[in-house]
Amino acid sequence: MSNETPAGPSAPAAPSDFIRDIVAQHVAEGRYPKILTRFPPEPNGYLHIGHAKSICLNFGIAREFGGACNLRMDDTNPTKEDIEYVESIIFDVNWLIGGWADGVKTPKLFHASDYFEQLYGFAVALIKKGVAFVCDLTGEQVAEYRGAPTEPGRPSPNRDRSVEENLDLFARMRAGEFADGTKTLRAKIDMTSPNIHMRDPVLYRIRHTEHQATGNTWCIYPMYDYAHCLSDAIEGISHSICTLEFEVHRPLYDWLVDEVGLWNPRPRQYEFARLSLTYTLMSKRKLLQLVEDKIVTGWDDPRMPTICGMRRRGVTAQALRNFAYHIGVTKYMSLTDVAVLEHAIREDLNKIALRRMAVLRPLKVVITNFPERKTELCAATNNPNDETAGTREVPFSRDLWIEQDDFIEVPAPKYFRLKPGGEVRLKYAFIIKCDEIVKDADGRVIEIRCTADLDSKTGGPTAGRKVKGTIHWVSAAHALDAEVRLYDRLFTEAEPEKDGRDFKTVMNPRSLEVITAKVEPSLRESSADARYQFERLAYFTPDPDSKPNGPIFNRTITLKDAWAKEIQRG
Ligand code: ATP
Ligand code: MG
Repeated sequence: MSNETPAGPSAPAAPSDFIRDIVAQHVAEGRYPKILTRFPPEPNGYLHIGHAKSICLNFGIAREFGGACNLRMDDTNPTKEDIEYVESIIFDVNWLIGGWADGVKTPKLFHASDYFEQLYGFAVALIKKGVAFVCDLTGEQVAEYRGAPTEPGRPSPNRDRSVEENLDLFARMRAGEFADGTKTLRAKIDMTSPNIHMRDPVLYRIRHTEHQATGNTWCIYPMYDYAHCLSDAIEGISHSICTLEFEVHRPLYDWLVDEVGLWNPRPRQYEFARLSLTYTLMSKRKLLQLVEDKIVTGWDDPRMPTICGMRRRGVTAQALRNFAYHIGVTKYMSLTDVAVLEHAIREDLNKIALRRMAVLRPLKVVITNFPERKTELCAATNNPNDETAGTREVPFSRDLWIEQDDFIEVPAPKYFRLKPGGEVRLKYAFIIKCDEIVKDADGRVIEIRCTADLDSKTGGPTAGRKVKGTIHWVSAAHALDAEVRLYDRLFTEAEPEKDGRDFKTVMNPRSLEVITAKVEPSLRESSADARYQFERLAYFTPDPDSKPNGPIFNRTITLKDAWAKEIQRG
C-alpha cells in the first residue's frame, strides 16, 4: 500500500478517515484480491463540487491502496438523461483526477445500461425463486399501500400471483404490451418492515422512452436500488461508497445482492456525509433551474459550483483535490464554510499564478520629468514563489494608469499610497512624487502630475531609498483594453434555502460586474489555462470568449477574503 502525498500544504499527507480505516483493514486481512471502488453519477446534469468530494474519495482510495475505480454512468432513468451530460461527466472526471501526481489512469468507463440484459435475467431468476412479482397497482396506489413507518403496509392484491403468470406478464412488459405506469415488477420482501424500503420495493417500471445509450431496445427500466447494487456486484466492486441518504437503502442493497447470487467479491455499501457548502446550492435539479431560468449563463457560468463552472473561473484541479483531502470524510452532516474552499483556491494559485500588472479602475498619471515618446523597459518578476518562471519586461512611459483608489486627496493618517506631496514606488520602476492634481469641471480628479526619482529604479543610485507604499501601474501608450468579469458569490446568504426560503430571493445582485481594464501588453495572448495574479488585486484566468486582441479575464478570487473584512491595502 502506498500513501503518496498530494501537493499542497493544506492537504493532509495521508488522509485518514473511517472509510480508509475499513479499507486498510480489509487490505491487511487480504479480504479482496483488489480494492475496487466506483463513482456512479446519473447523467442528468453536470458534476458539482459535491461530486468532486466523492470522486476524490473513490479515486483517492483506489490510488492509495493500489486498486482501481470505475466511472459508471448510472443511466437507468431515460427521461432525465442526456448524452451532453455523459460527455461532460467524462471530461470533468478526467480533468479532476488526470493531474494527480502519480497519474491515475484514465478511468474505465462503464454504464449501468450495459447490464440491462443481465439485470433482466436476474429479475426473471427472482421471479422463479418466488421473491418478485408483477404488480398492477399504480404508482400512487403503491405508495398508499406501503403505509407509514409507524404502521405496517398492506400487501398488493397481486402479491401471490403464480410464478408462471409473473413470468408471462414480465415478458410482456418487456415486449411493450403495457402502457407506462400500468405495471411494475416488485420484490416480495416484508410489508410490515419498519424500513419502508423493504416493503416490496419496485424493481422495474415501464417507460416507453428512448434511452441515450440503448435507444428503443427497452421499454422497461430498472430502478436505482435494483440496478445499483447489482451493477456493483457484476463489476466486482469491493467498496461501494455513497452518501448518508442511502444508509436506509442498505438492507435492500444486501437483500438483492444475496438473493441474486453468490458473489466473490461481494460488494458492500459504506456511507459518508455529503458535502454542503455555505453560499452554495448543491443539487443538480436546482442548478438546472438556475440555468433554465437564465439566472446564470449556463452550467459553466463561472459562478456555478459545477466542476466546469469552477474550471472556467480559473479554479485548478489541484485546488479541488487539496480541498477534498483537507475537509476529510465523516459520518456526520455538517456545513462547510465556503471560505475553506476559497482558501484552497488561493493557496494553489499563489504558488502557480504568473504575476501581471493591470489597472481595473484607471486614473491617469503623467510623469512630467520623463521624456515624451520614450519607453523604458522594467524587469518584472513573473512569480516570486517560482524562480523558474523568470522575468519579463514591462514598458514604462510618461503617461501611466494607476488604480483610482491608490490616490486620495485627503488621506487618513496611515495612508501610504499616493497623496498630494507624497511619494510612492511604482512597482518594478521609479519612486514618484505627486506634485499637482488636475480636476474636471465637476471637481473630479482626472489626472495626477508627478515627478519621478529617475535614479530609483533597480540598479540605480537611489534604488534602496525606502518609501512606505508600492503601487502597480500600466503604461498608457502600451496598455491593452481588456474586458474583466468580476465574479463574486451567487447568494447573499450563507444558507440560501434556510427554513424553506426560495433561493431566488437571496441572489447576490453583485455576483458579476463587467468592466474594461487597462492591462500590460504581455496579456495580449494567453494560453487557455493560464493563471494570473493581477498584482495587488486578485487572481484571473482568460475566458474562452476571448478574441485575438480582445482578451477577457475572469476573476477567480480576490487575494484576501473580502467577505471576512474589507480589504486593507497600503
Ligand atoms: P444531486 O442531488 O446533486 O442531483 P445526486 O446524488 O443525485 O446529486 P448522482 O449523480 O446520483 O447525484 O451522484 C453521483 C455520486 O456523487 C453519488 O455517489 C453521490 O452520493 C455523490 N454525491 C452527490 N452529491 C454529493 C455531495 N454533495 N457530496 C458528496 N458526494 C456527493
Ligand atoms: Mg441522484
